Amino acid sequence: MSEYVIPKPEQPAVPVRGGGLFPVRRIYCVGRNYAEHVREMGGDAERELPFFFAKPADAVVIRSADMPYPPMTKELHHEMELVVAIGKGGANIPEREALNHVYGYAAGIDMTRRDLQAEAKKAGRPWEMSKGFDHSAPIGEIAPASQIGHPAQGKIVLSVNGKVRQNSDIANMIWPVSGIIAELSRFVRLEPGDLIFTGTPEGVGPVSRGDVLEGSISGVGTVRVRVV
Ligand code: MN
Repeated sequence: MSEYVIPKPEQPAVPVRGGGLFPVRRIYCVGRNYAEHVREMGGDAERELPFFFAKPADAVVIRSADMPYPPMTKELHHEMELVVAIGKGGANIPEREALNHVYGYAAGIDMTRRDLQAEAKKAGRPWEMSKGFDHSAPIGEIAPASQIGHPAQGKIVLSVNGKVRQNSDIANMIWPVSGIIAELSRFVRLEPGDLIFTGTPEGVGPVSRGDVLEGSISGVGTVRVRVV
């Protein structure tokens, strides 16, 4: 038997409502999935289809822990999102079967170094350093679908220091969860432990050290993080 030559990295995990931990394998994210957000970013919601990018699994911030303001940016933005937790793997999953692959749902924030993202877009470079940095994925407890079902509507709200910044409904997603799972599983095989951030509604904006971010999705849960 071979032994690891360095200490084995810790398994990132997210607490589940009612007890237990959901081990995180991969984090995928959907871009441009609410028309009003596409417009606020200067895009054309009619023409642009959603697309995918990723964050490292250990970017999750759990249990309302503090999030250090990241280096190399002067424009850290919040993107409040519904997160899907995959419980059953598969490739080329048909849309009608997609929800059978969901373990549960959570509220999460796709933290973004917006200035780096703008530079990357302009230069035609990858987005990783604007999206997949340390502590870039605060997430609340995962609510099992066996308890809450598969929410297709519900208010999605994010407040910064008690002031509402984002306020929409997950019914406004361009691609619903089933469509996202079907499409993403054409590109990669999904496995238990995968999280999918499903895109953000309009109202994204900058945060500073000391700010407290509180998000909620009706029927799903909450997420809270303080930037320090
Ligand atoms: Mn996002």
